[in-house]
Amino acid sequence: MALEAQSAAIAAQFDYTDDQVNSAVNEFRRQMTEGLEKDGTSLSQIPTYVTGVPNGTEKGLYMAVDLGGTNFRVCSIQLNGDTTFNLTFSKVAIPRELMVAKTAQELFAFLAKQVELFLHTHHEDHFEQHVRRRMTMSSPDGYKDEHVFRLGFTFSFPVQQVGINKGTLIRWTKGFDIPDAVGKDVCALLQDEIDKLHLPVKVAALVNDTVGTLMARSYSSPGKTGTVLGAIFGTGTNGAYVEKLSNLKKPLSGEYDKTTGEMVINTEWGSFDNQLSVLPNTAWDVALDKASPNPGIQMYEKRVSGMFLGEILRLVIIDLLKDPKVSFLRDENSSSNDWKSTTNIVSDSSVYTQWGLDTAIMSVAAADNTPELSTLRGELEKQLGIYSAGLDDAQAFKAIANAIGRRSARLSAVAIAAIVLQTGKLTDPANADEPVDIGVDGSLVEHYPYFRDMIYEALRTVDGIGEEGAKRIRIGIAKDGSGVGAALIALVAAGMEKRLTTADYLGELRSNAKSNNLTVVPETSATAAQD
Ligand code: ADP
Ligand code: MG
Repeated sequence: MALEAQSAAIAAQFDYTDDQVNSAVNEFRRQMTEGLEKDGTSLSQIPTYVTGVPNGTEKGLYMAVDLGGTNFRVCSIQLNGDTTFNLTFSKVAIPRELMVAKTAQELFAFLAKQVELFLHTHHEDHFEQHVRRRMTMSSPDGYKDEHVFRLGFTFSFPVQQVGINKGTLIRWTKGFDIPDAVGKDVCALLQDEIDKLHLPVKVAALVNDTVGTLMARSYSSPGKTGTVLGAIFGTGTNGAYVEKLSNLKKPLSGEYDKTTGEMVINTEWGSFDNQLSVLPNTAWDVALDKASPNPGIQMYEKRVSGMFLGEILRLVIIDLLKDPKVSFLRDENSSSNDWKSTTNIVSDSSVYTQWGLDTAIMSVAAADNTPELSTLRGELEKQLGIYSAGLDDAQAFKAIANAIGRRSARLSAVAIAAIVLQTGKLTDPANADEPVDIGVDGSLVEHYPYFRDMIYEALRTVDGIGEEGAKRIRIGIAKDGSGVGAALIALVAAGMEKRLTTADYLGELRSNAKSNNLTVVPETSATAAQD
């Protein structure tokens, strides 16, 4: 009984009330506006120079790579132009030692190697033709551009983007720490390693996974409505949304298309409320932050995303194990355990090490409705070396895990609600019959049971959304969204390249003509005429 009461008391510390949700939404909106006006704010609100979302008619074969936080994915995507696509992919876990490598080169050489393996496995024909052409053609420029795969690089860390395929790393997150890479252009780092392997691949676009998710969802979502928000709930959390240019007050340096009146903004919402004015802050949140590689930042992410939920739970468990007032995972003798044994934790259980508890087990806990919680107890044994946990132990584990998961979903609703309200779509008469479409990606939102239901539950309580508004918000999984999205942005980039080269060529002709006192090339918009 003591354990049940104690675990309920702990779970209650993770409650996040409707009122708290509402104040956080207001604060989120305030921090969004602040980020649109100046640099150096909590929400970075990074302009992406992407000024429109796709409508499903785009076509072509592209490559994409995705450096998430846990895995590296390589894929090729055939866009069929009818909202469908064909995707081939491979995935490897990023070795932990490379996340904290001495030099950026070590990490990027590994990434380039995976691209090479992928080409050999899935595009051997293309690969061989390329090698043959290289050997037979005399002018490298002759073949260079036509036969090279355009690759969209999804890089899910904060980057100062200065062009469609150029951007410098602002800081690492999610447990990565390679100081040497900060301030460098991550596309150039990848291209250099690709070139060392002589691969027919050009890094054409730098894509944040949130922007990719937004684009992918917009390409494939049903109906004519464009998607307004792409959000990630995976290792980390972040979102990108479509903002009106007129709200973007801070100066923009690069060139962009002004005709749509919109631009995709990468919020970097992982850093929402680093000052903790509205975020909850239990003793375990404090402990997690203190022991993290980046104390004081990514405070929202540390309460929401996959990398951290398991760690919060682990810290609670360690405290409970030490608590003399309760017997958690500890039996007086076999009679106090419903399996008539005594609980044993192996001495090298990963429950004793930082990051040793994978958030995935929280999904198992939430999904297990068997009377004896036998699935969960099986996983405790398999994943954490906890043998013969009692039913009461498993119940305590589940109650606390559920509370942490639920708080994460309600906090996720804060960001979604704030952005939906910011777009004004719920009150816009022109949009009255249309859903407000949102694409999400990441293992947490995809696999955690009822994560989206818990988000909706919180959305319904938000002022300005309510029951009716929540019904119009359509949150859909954009599976492998970052891959397809990266391909779509590589397509945009390829179009821009073509326009630029044509413009350069015509420009040259024009100046030659001028020097000969001839006017063979009209001064009119050569670039527009070409597409
Ligand atoms: P990435 O962030 O690298 O793109 P994912 O979207 O797959 O990768 O997210 C990985 C994160 O999701 C990890 O932190 C992992 O602990 C968590 N995760 C994986 N599977 C599950 C699951 N079934 N339920 C909840 N979280 C999960
Ligand atoms: Mg991801």
